[in-house]
Amino acid sequence: MNPIRHIYVHIPFCARICPYCAFYKDLLDRSQTWRFSEALLRDLDQECATFALSTETIYFGGGTPTALTTSQLEFLLGGFHRRLDLSSLAECTIEANPGSVSARKAALLRKLGVTRVSLGVQSWNDELLKVLGREHNSHQAEESFHILRTAGFANISVDLMFGLPGQTIEQWKFTLEKTIALQPDHISAYCLTYEEDTEFFMRHARGELRQDTDADAAFFEMAMSVLEEAGYEQYEISNYAHPGFASVHNRAYWLGKDFLGIGPSAFSTIGMQRWQNVCDYRSYADRVLCGQSPRGFSENLTNEMKRSERIALSLRMREGIAGSELKHFGRETEELISLGLLRKSNGNFLLTRKGRNLADSVAEAFL
Ligand code: SF4
Repeated sequence: MNPIRHIYVHIPFCARICPYCAFYKDLLDRSQTWRFSEALLRDLDQECATFALSTETIYFGGGTPTALTTSQLEFLLGGFHRRLDLSSLAECTIEANPGSVSARKAALLRKLGVTRVSLGVQSWNDELLKVLGREHNSHQAEESFHILRTAGFANISVDLMFGLPGQTIEQWKFTLEKTIALQPDHISAYCLTYEEDTEFFMRHARGELRQDTDADAAFFEMAMSVLEEAGYEQYEISNYAHPGFASVHNRAYWLGKDFLGIGPSAFSTIGMQRWQNVCDYRSYADRVLCGQSPRGFSENLTNEMKRSERIALSLRMREGIAGSELKHFGRETEELISLGLLRKSNGNFLLTRKGRNLADSVAEAFL
C-alpha cells in the first residue's frame, strides 16, 4: 500500500456555538483540553503503528484549533513533529477564528511549522456577524489578519459566507472588496445552507428564515466576477487563490486521494475503506487513552461509489473531469452541454459559468 500523504486533525472546541454550524463541535471546556491533546497524540501513535505515512499536508480544522492555549498547541504540534517524517511537508494549515489569534500564538504557530492559516472572517459587516452568532467583530478580524501577516504568514486564506439572512448585494460587494483590499492569498466563499440539527434549520422550518435561491445565485455570480477581476483564480467552485496558492490539502481531498483523520468525528479514506471516529470528544479520549480504537462508523467503498464521488468533486474543480470518466454517460453529457451547463476542453468536461451555479444538480445527473 502507498504511504498516506494527507492528515486531517479535528479539534472540536469553540468558545461559542454558531447557530448555523453542522460540524461536530462542543463548547470550550478548559478542564478537558489537555487530556484531549494527549488523546490526539495517542491516536496518531496508533495510526503510525498501522499505516506508513509520508506526510505532504496536515490540516488542523474544527471547531476552533486556535481555541487551544499556546502551551497546548506547542505540545500538540511538537508531538506531530516528533512522530512524523515531515521532510516532504508541503503545507500545514490551521483554521483560526478572529478573536483567538494573538501575536504570541501566531509567532508560535510559525515557529512550529504551520505554513497556512485559514481565518474565519465570514463577513465584514458587524450586524451580519451578530446574526451568525460569531464571537468576533470586523475590527478584530482585521486585527487578526494583520497579526498573522506580521508574524510572517505568507499564505492566509480568508473564509467568507454569503446568502445570509437579511444580507444585501451591496453588503456582499463591500465584504468582497474589503477582503481584496487586505490581499489574502486565498479566499473561500460558501453559501449559507440550512443544515439539519442546527438552530438555523429550526428557524428555517418555522418560516422565520428563508433561502432565496435567486439571491444566492446573484451573490455567487458577484463573487466570481469581483474575485476573478482582482486576480484570484476560481480553482474550485467555492475557492479562489492567487497563482500558486491553491490549497494543496483540499485539492488532494477533491482529487480523491487517501487521507487519514485524527480526532473525534474525523473521516479517513484509505483504499476501499472509509471510517469516521466517534463524534464525542470525551468518549474519543476515553477510548484512545486506554488503547482502544476511536473508530465509530466504517464502510467498504465500491468502485461505483468512488466513481460517483470522483465525478462530483472533479466537476467542482477548474480543470473538470477527464472525458474517460464520463464515457458511460453519453446521453447525460450531451444533454448538459445542450443546456449550456457543461463544455468540453482538451478532452475534459468542465462546468460552464452557468453550470457552476447548478453544480450539485449537474453532478446528480451522473449518479
Ligand atoms: S466557530 Fe466554526 S466550528 Fe465553531 S460553531 Fe462557529 S462555525 Fe462551527
